[in-house]
Amino acid sequence: MRIDIVTAFPDLVRGPLEYSILRRARMRGLVDIRVHDLRDYTTDRHRQIDDYPYGGGSGMVLKPEPIFRCIEAIQAEAARQGQTIDEVIYLTPDGQVFTQELATRLSLCQQLILLAGHYKGVDQRVRDALVTMELSIGDYVLSGGELPALVVVDAIVRLIPGVLGDASSALSDSFQDGLLDAPVYTRPAVYRGMAVPEVLLSGDHQRIAAWREAQRLEKTRQRRPDLLEKLELTTNDE
Ligand code: SAM
Repeated sequence: MRIDIVTAFPDLVRGPLEYSILRRARMRGLVDIRVHDLRDYTTDRHRQIDDYPYGGGSGMVLKPEPIFRCIEAIQAEAARQGQTIDEVIYLTPDGQVFTQELATRLSLCQQLILLAGHYKGVDQRVRDALVTMELSIGDYVLSGGELPALVVVDAIVRLIPGVLGDASSALSDSFQDGLLDAPVYTRPAVYRGMAVPEVLLSGDHQRIAAWREAQRLEKTRQRRPDLLEKLELTTNDE
């Protein structure tokens, strides 16, 4: 899989790609992540990527020309290599809210382009002509799309087959099958008088699985009853 991140602040994005699972996935060739600096696609002396908004008002807007040039260059390269670009994604607070279901769907793609906005956002013509999907990571506003892009990349990459040492780990994570995850414990068995639930030390895999399932259901009922309602709706539809 290949992911291209288009940004005005490439250094903000590069750091997290160098750690943990994202680094391992890249090193093992399971994902190829390229970061593109919008300023490299300017043609003026000052490498200007933003300008004042038409109609007045505060805040700057990312200009269309460098974004068109950058994304079209990525598209041309993909066409030469016979690659399919599945989606051009703009990270934006007014987009569709990103979920585990979307992460799972996107993890099956061949190539994705992620566009991070900044300031007041990108010129609307970029959204109209180039973007095929708009994603928000939640109902709050950040200064730029770089952190949201990394959130989306991390959620997708850990689902690519072979990235996690144990694939079943991702399958039991919260949201993957509509429930929250069960509590987890490690050694020591008793810490500051707090004991690990006896069932987890029993070695009885059936009992452990049943305990975990019950914990997942109870936690979901308490914290996210909306998820249970959604599960019931989908079960009734089938
Ligand atoms: N004027 C925009 C609005 O109100 O919808 C907000 C612009 S925001 C200050 C600058 C950039 O940060 C956006 O273009 C977007 O790329 C990114 N951004 C901010 N919050 C986000 C969120 N919740 N999800 C995804 N991207 C976000």
